[in-house]
Amino acid sequence: MKQPQKHRYLLQHFVGWEVETEANAFNPEVVEFMDFRGEQHHEARFMYVLPFSARKALVEYTLFSEVPLAKAEYEAAIREYLATALGINNYRIVAEEVGAIPMTDHPLPAQAGKHIINLGTRGGRAKPSTGYAFKRIQQQSARLVEALASTGRPPADPTGDKWQFRLFDTLLLDIMQRRGKPPGTSSGSFSSATLWSASSAFWTKPPPGLITCG
Ligand SMILES: Cc1cc2nc3c(=O)[nH]c(=O)nc-3n(C[C@H](O)[C@H](O)[C@H](O)COP(=O)(O)OP(=O)(O)OC[C@H]3O[C@@H](n4cnc5c(N)ncnc54)[C@H](O)[C@@H]3O)c2cc1C
Repeated sequence: MKQPQKHRYLLQHFVGWEVETEANAFNPEVVEFMDFRGEQHHEARFMYVLPFSARKALVEYTLFSEVPLAKAEYEAAIREYLATALGINNYRIVAEEVGAIPMTDHPLPAQAGKHIINLGTRGGRAKPSTGYAFKRIQQQSARLVEALASTGRPPADPTGDKWQFRLFDTLLLDIMQRRGKPPGTSSGSFSSATLWSASSAFWTKPPPGLITCG
């Protein structure tokens, strides 16, 4: 359940088109990972261009923000990017992907009771500040397999997450959720004052009992 006063809730939301062109238009050796040149609207908005060949690529408009856009807005942005940034006006849309991945520091424990281990997004494996999950899912799976193979039991700590990285995720989420608003206008209870003390504390010493995680 959402607790907006306590935690931060953003989404990584996107629409992507797999496009095919008649003439060569893409460099299959080059991936445009995050092109931030477009209008940001006080959010993080970027384009991916992931070529499969010189004539076929996934072009995806992605945002980190609280609320998804109307579908037509993503489509207009992709159309505009294809025309102006890539100079491509003749293309065929052969596939489409649409999605929204949670970006939150809401606790999603990897253990749900003595005999249940949560995996994937349910187990907090989507990284709060990016929405990416594959690497963390694979790391957790490897950790579980290793413990089961060597001890016959799951590991006491199923993820090995470190407190520092949870703090970094929260800091980044807070900055993104405030969308550039001045200090003192935090959208949650994590004010700029507590942000400052939290980050100062990080550079001096870890909170007691947390350093042993992982
Ligand atoms: C379009 C898209 C692109 C992405 N790209 C990336 C990327 O490049 N890198 C990255 O790190 N992350 C990426 N992500 C995020 C990542 O894919 C997901 O966060 C990750 O797959 C989530 O894994 P999961 O196991 O939690 O859920 P899922 O992969 O959705 O798996 C859940 C499974 O449970 C099944 N299921 C659901 N309910 C039940 C039920 N009641 N009983 C039985 N089975 C059930 C579903 O059918 C599904 O197979 C992307 C996500 C999307 C949508």
